[in-house]
Amino acid sequence: TEACLSQIEGAGALNAFVHKTPEIALEMARAADTRIKSGDAPAMCGIPLGVKDLFATKGVATQAASKILEGFKPEYESTVTQNLWDAGAVMLGKLNMDEFAMGSSNESACYGNAVNPWKVDERQLTPGGSSGGSASAVAADLCLAATGTDTGGSIRQPAAFTGIVGIKPTYGRVSRWGVVAFASSLDQAGPMTKSVRDAAIMLGTMCSHDPKDSTSTDLPVPDFEAMLTGDIRGKKIGIPKEYRMDGMDAGIEKLWADGTAMLKDAGAEIVDISLPHTKYALPAYYVVAPAEASSNLARYDGVRYGHRAKLAAGEGIDDMYAKTRAEGFGPEVQRRVMIGTYVLSAGFYDAYYNRARKVRALIKRDFEEVFAQGIDAILTPATPSAAFGLGEMANADPVAMYLNDVFTVTVNLAGLPGISVPCGLDAAGLPLGLQLIGRPWEEGDLLNHAHVLE
Ligand code: GLN
Repeated sequence: TEACLSQIEGAGALNAFVHKTPEIALEMARAADTRIKSGDAPAMCGIPLGVKDLFATKGVATQAASKILEGFKPEYESTVTQNLWDAGAVMLGKLNMDEFAMGSSNESACYGNAVNPWKVDERQLTPGGSSGGSASAVAADLCLAATGTDTGGSIRQPAAFTGIVGIKPTYGRVSRWGVVAFASSLDQAGPMTKSVRDAAIMLGTMCSHDPKDSTSTDLPVPDFEAMLTGDIRGKKIGIPKEYRMDGMDAGIEKLWADGTAMLKDAGAEIVDISLPHTKYALPAYYVVAPAEASSNLARYDGVRYGHRAKLAAGEGIDDMYAKTRAEGFGPEVQRRVMIGTYVLSAGFYDAYYNRARKVRALIKRDFEEVFAQGIDAILTPATPSAAFGLGEMANADPVAMYLNDVFTVTVNLAGLPGISVPCGLDAAGLPLGLQLIGRPWEEGDLLNHAHVLE
């Protein structure tokens, strides 16, 4: 913990930690020492972690990287972080992210963006998003692991951009209680770690059945670490043809072929598969996610939390709502609230929201069909490119940024587990990740496949 705290002090330029809690960390570390000496400490005991700013941490600033939550200190702890603290893990502080987890570059944060510790020329690179601070902190050794959340790729894409491991579990595997809501039918928390083994250990600690989240499962939590045998002989790996996009980056294509060969060498059978509705995933996601966000974000009204606009003489409560939200939400969040409100409005509900829900069902069915054919895991690239330069996409059309999520959003729409594993470098020397998609509730098997790719 002391080593991490001093590493954090020297890494201010990365802008990864946005609220530091050194006193809490040292107190937790001392308690962990005592527990370890007593001889019955779980694997996470004493492990210093960073926490994405989206998780409610009791008495510690929780802002979702938004000005609208300025000064908010929750009265309660999220279930996921409580599970980690109960196992003896140590909190170093809160990590940068895109505002309300909306973005793919960490550039919508009210704190300014986090920076990728990887650098090959004069350009500063994005660590990805929305869990960009988490990825940057783990990659730069500011913490041993971090929590992330993933609504459309926010664990897997930043993991790929920074050369670390990130897993989004099956929807319902981890409690969403105390995690600031973005799109509730898609959001899941997960670990961001340096290795698949760390991910297995940390995921096992994060999972629990939680009556406070009605979508959390009461299935038993297997010993994920014990499932990392490296034996995938006879397993069937699907390679979906729809993920082979026109004009695909040559480095990504090679990475994908190399990963396929590694799984084959380990004794798996490689099968060409089709997921025919893939091309509709991005448009469906960018209807469903903003729709849910517009509803979830209605609670930020200047009355209950954080920021409240100052009113001029004669202004009333409606002015207070409007001014507070105009001042408190950044441009990307405002864009999503407007899109979401529009697609849910009486005149357009059927044309957009209902249609997107039907497309979502078809995407889910595509996966069910390939799993019914005996496919154990699906291998795809995690991202269309390596980390891009800060400012490069943010200053372009917002849709260019949305295209980054092309390989990841299908997994959230279908509620499946997905993992990004660092598998090599591109021609410029930047890390690239491969994604494995697993059967629902079979994170252990998925982690074992990922372990082979490490
Ligand atoms: N980049 C996607 C978005 O902006 C995904 C974000 C996420 O997974 N939280 O919505």
